[in-house]
Parts: sequence; structure tokens; C-alpha cells
Amino acid sequence: MNGTPEPAAEPHNSPSRLGTTAERHATILASVWAALTFLAGALLFLFLHPKGIWALMFVGVTVAVVWLVWNRLLAKVRRRKKLLAAPFPVEWEAVLQRDVAFFRALPDPEKTRFRNELKIFLGEKMVTGIRTTIDTRTKVLVGASAVIPIFGFPSWEWDQINEVLVYPSRFGKDFNLDGDGDGNILGMVGTGAMNRIMILVKPDLIQGFKNTTDKRNVGVHEFAHLVDKSDGVIDGLPAVGLDREAIGPWIELVRRKMQEISDNDSDIHAYALTNEAEFFSVVSEYFFERPGLMKQKHPELFATLQKVFRQDLGSRLQEIRREMTAGPKKFGRNSPCPCGSGKKFKKCCLQKME
Ligand SMILES: [Zn+2]
Ligand SMILES: [Zn+2]
Repeated sequence: MNGTPEPAAEPHNSPSRLGTTAERHATILASVWAALTFLAGALLFLFLHPKGIWALMFVGVTVAVVWLVWNRLLAKVRRRKKLLAAPFPVEWEAVLQRDVAFFRALPDPEKTRFRNELKIFLGEKMVTGIRTTIDTRTKVLVGASAVIPIFGFPSWEWDQINEVLVYPSRFGKDFNLDGDGDGNILGMVGTGAMNRIMILVKPDLIQGFKNTTDKRNVGVHEFAHLVDKSDGVIDGLPAVGLDREAIGPWIELVRRKMQEISDNDSDIHAYALTNEAEFFSVVSEYFFERPGLMKQKHPELFATLQKVFRQDLGSRLQEIRREMTAGPKKFGRNSPCPCGSGKKFKKCCLQKME
């Protein structure tokens, strides 16, 4: 492990996320299959002559099956293209501009890519309010929490999750809101019967984005657990970004950093001591919210996380710092709406957001 960040392994304009690659693969497969069927049918026709009608039926039935399978494969791609073709909602833009410093610090072409990732995530996954309504702000912040940690993986698929449940307040170990009030969980990734479900608490989700300096963001924290889970287990060993040789040094680095926390000699939140998996999610929050601070205080950890997430935040530290400090003051009720309409915020997107 050396201290220099590596460039992103995948080009950021990779079309795979838009389904173009998947569409091409499906079409090639279907064409080859249909061609082979025709060839087999033609041979059968010659062989069976004059009962060639059976060969024709064989060709007909097989081609119909190929067509059905191809259509199914392409359904997802078509849905995505439709999602991407729709205009980006102005009030979503307003939420990103006001609440998501990570987004504001991106260069323009990357902002476009962020919006597209958001459209796909929110178009394909359910965000459901449990005894609370899902307003635009909540919905967009759930989506932003998902996009931030996977923004370095243009072909990422969120197969690990189907639905995000949003609770109005913190909850107990049994997911119960009616408990005796001892619930203090602000987010979790489900296992067992709750597999593919995430729970986030609305006020904590919003607070995670509102406070841009405390190195905490529960949305990013929970989705970082799912990045960790992409190899099947949540164990603090994110296989996506760490190659085999990097695993040993990572375990050693985690051990050292956890020791610093127990020695009271670290600014990493003590919750990271829970276990290696929590360590990973806690330092991920820190990495995405205060990359400059992490680079300064934990250079080795910072360099490793740049590789894990394939994001070169080090090259954008100035922009991130600028947006982190300017953000909250930038958009008052009477200032121009962050969606760019030119109208006053209170008369434009503010009401639609909350
Ligand atoms: Zn956690
Ligand atoms: Zn507006």
C-alpha cells in the first residue's frame, strides 16, 4: 500500500450503467441463438424431406422462445432508458443543490452522471415511509446516500437492496417503534427476513447531510455496509476495491486505527470500535464528508479508501471544502431557488421539498 491514489479503474463515461452493454450482449446472444436454430432447421428440412413441415415448426417455436427471452432481458434496459430520458425534476435539483455538498463539489459532467444514477436508483428501488410521509427531500437524500459511495463504480448494480423503509424516529432492536422508548438505532441493513431492506430514520438522515462537518452521515454509513456486502458478507472487508495483496495491509491498518481510538488518540467516532464492519462504515462517512481532514489526520487510511471506493477525492479537496463550508448559508428563503428557475426559493421549490 503506498500513499498515491490510483486513477479510477473504470472510465467515468462507461455506458454500462445506461444498459447499452447489457442490451448489446442480449442482442448478440439472441442473434446467435436464432441463427443456429435456422441452420439446424434447414438441415432438418433437407433430412426430413418431404416431411419438412416438422422442421419448420421446430424453427418457428424456437425462434419464438428466443424472442421472448430476449425481450425479457431488454425490459430492464428499456425501463432504464425511459427513466433517463425523463427530465430531472427541478425540486430534486433544488435538494441536491441545497443539501448535498458532495454533489455541488462535482465538475459539471459528473453532476450529470450523479443525476442519472439518482434517477435509476429512485426509479428502481422503493422508498417507503413507515408512519411518516416521504417528501421530496427525504427521497432524494436516500438516493444521494446510495449514489455517493458507488460513484466510482459506473457499472454498479444495487442488487443488495430492494427497498428503503423510512422511520419517523429511532427504533429498538426488534424494529419496533412502539417500544418503551429505549430504541436508539438510527439506521440498519436488514438480514434474514429483512434481507434487501434498509431502515433509515428521517431526522437522522436529514441531519447527516445538514451537518457537513461532524464526519457523520447515517445514509452513507448504511450504504457503505452494502458496498462491504457486495462480496456476500458485511465484515469490513470490501472485496470490490481491495485486491488480494491489499487485504493483509488493510486488516493491519484497521487494527492500528482501532487501537488509536481505544487509546483516546483519534478523531474517528468511537462507534467504529464496535467491530471491523462498523469501523469500515464509520470511516466511510468520514471519508466522504471530510476528505481533506482525513487526508491530513489519517493519510494512509485516506489513500486506501480512495482505492476502495475508486474515487479521487484528493483531486477535489478545494471544491469539497468550499461547498462544505458555504453550503448551509447559501440558500435562504428569499435567495434565488437552487433549482435555477430564477424565482425566490420560498415561491419555487421550497414547498415541494418538505
Ligand atoms: Zn453500521
Ligand atoms: Zn425551484
